[in-house]
Amino acid sequence: MFDNSEETRTGLSELGEFGLIDHLTRHFAPKHSSTIKAIGDDAAVVDFSNKHTLISTDMLVEGVHFDLAYMPLKHLGYKSVIVNLSDIYAMNAKATHITVSIAASNRFTVEALEELYAGIKLAADVYNIDVIGGDTTSSTSGLFISISVFGEAEKEAVVYRDGAQSNDLVVLSGDIGAAYMGLQILEREKQVFKANPNAQPDLEPYTYLIERQLKPEARKDVPKLLKELDLKPTSMIDVSDGLSSEIIHLCKNSKTGVKLYEEKIPLDPAVISVCEEFELDSTTIALSGGEDYELLFTISQSDYDKIKGNPNFTVIGHMTEEHEGMHLITRANQAVELIARGWNSMDKESEEA
Ligand code: ADP
Ligand code: MG
Repeated sequence: MFDNSEETRTGLSELGEFGLIDHLTRHFAPKHSSTIKAIGDDAAVVDFSNKHTLISTDMLVEGVHFDLAYMPLKHLGYKSVIVNLSDIYAMNAKATHITVSIAASNRFTVEALEELYAGIKLAADVYNIDVIGGDTTSSTSGLFISISVFGEAEKEAVVYRDGAQSNDLVVLSGDIGAAYMGLQILEREKQVFKANPNAQPDLEPYTYLIERQLKPEARKDVPKLLKELDLKPTSMIDVSDGLSSEIIHLCKNSKTGVKLYEEKIPLDPAVISVCEEFELDSTTIALSGGEDYELLFTISQSDYDKIKGNPNFTVIGHMTEEHEGMHLITRANQAVELIARGWNSMDKESEEA
């Protein structure tokens, strides 16, 4: 992960607002021909010609969405971009531009914001994104980051949440639950550190989990893969809040029910072992953990051959008629109702044959 060394401490007021903006944005050269005007005018100008334009915004608030005690600023910058890009990929589109607005209290130095911007720049380079503007202001307490992302897609390619039909297969990219368990590890280490600042934690066994929490990636490759496979999902969403609430969004928007199979949910072995360590149920974590930034989508049964055996994708269930409800079928073959935060273990309403 990143090195986060911070030696000099320049107060924000030393540069002034315009000096600070120039300083933070000096390395952002546009990469896309669609960028007509980037940073430096009253508004950016983008030409998406005859394609659909996609727009999404996410705001991150210190103390609510991140804790600087274990989140280095460079990682925060990187992750702030990732969470936004993920929403565009979830529409089966290409993300191309972002604007970045920040409000920082005088507790932050120029060097600290430079770290934040180093992470933003890295994500913009890795994901081929133009940073075309933003706003910079002060806050009385804490750090706020609001990023807007813009993207493009052929009109016919855009995938919405409301297109799933009964019998469609439910497909997930990657594996889930790791980011949440990474957060549990970091929270635990923070408490250990508070009690004994000299403790040297051995985080090596948790590398994958911590990386999924501190340096997540968005599935830029999935829209590309789907295009290569000539496969258009019937509905799609990104997994930011946990599998359970995301599948409920697809079902409610598409007016379907669903059956997810516990045994099919893809978990990394590190998630399983750390769940044992914390005495948590790994299925509950997968369903309600969140921050995985994987893509959850549905496809017509007739498209199954296109993803069969593909290591990027796992079929985890199928849509049903709306009146059949939304259920997890457990390993013990019980149907348990899915609720927004996980599943309702009190309501084992129907026993499957
Ligand atoms: P205005 O007064 O018109 O709002 P600003 O002085 O706030 O303009 O911004 C000047 C230029 O710098 C604009 O192009 C704006 O989009 C860009 N900008 C301002 N803050 C940021 C930031 N934090 N990150 C990236 N670009 C920024
Ligand atoms: Mg402004």
